[in-house]
Amino acid sequence: MMKKVLLLLGLVIITISESWAYKFTTDFAAGFYWANLPIQMTVVDSDSTRKARIESITKVAMNEWMDSVGTDIWGYYASALGASASGKNVVRWSNNFQAETGMSAVTTLAATIRYTSGPYIARTEIVINGSHQMNNNDYYLKTILIHEFGHTVGLDHSDDPYAVMAPSIQLTYNGLGSDDINGMNAVVSKTHNYQAIGYVSPLSKGESSSSTSPMSCGSVNLLGSSANLSSLFGGFLMSLIGFIRKRLFK
Ligand SMILES: [Zn+2]
Repeated sequence: MMKKVLLLLGLVIITISESWAYKFTTDFAAGFYWANLPIQMTVVDSDSTRKARIESITKVAMNEWMDSVGTDIWGYYASALGASASGKNVVRWSNNFQAETGMSAVTTLAATIRYTSGPYIARTEIVINGSHQMNNNDYYLKTILIHEFGHTVGLDHSDDPYAVMAPSIQLTYNGLGSDDINGMNAVVSKTHNYQAIGYVSPLSKGESSSSTSPMSCGSVNLLGSSANLSSLFGGFLMSLIGFIRKRLFK
């Protein structure tokens, strides 16, 4: 009898741990990876005040991950460029989010786009939705950027509602969850393994030298916090989304 109870308990625990797990983005899971770490990121913005703000939050967001994982995943490239940095890995503010990403500017806070080239993830772009009020708040923007940085290397949305990589934003940031850290460690170790053997995903064959990744993250409304947010921000359901599209910006 006791054995049966223990067995049942074991099954329950396994079920819970399986349903609360980090996930890889489909491109990363299919074997596309960064050829080199750290990934050099830069903030581009024609508004110098806003650029300085995003720059400082970007550094904090990158360090949250790197301090937890102990690996140099990103580096900061202090770009002298203004509003554009073609071919670079950028974090940028968009006042035309919906038109540029095809995502709703009402329900989407930011989007992460990854571009592949051959077997590699070649470039990434984090686009901040400039018309969303939460992005004017440093505290929220930090959480939003931490989440988006997870997407840049191959972490998808987690089923763990307490993870920063959950599809909905945590209104209170309590640090990266163990699920986030486990997920990032798994991404980094898989990336290092791929790099060591020069892995080429069979799916990369026949690709042109520059193509986009058809990956996307789903959008989910805020869990349990929508009422709170609605009162704060005027009745909109908001979600945090990582988003990758086939369509390139024009
Ligand atoms: Zn996301």
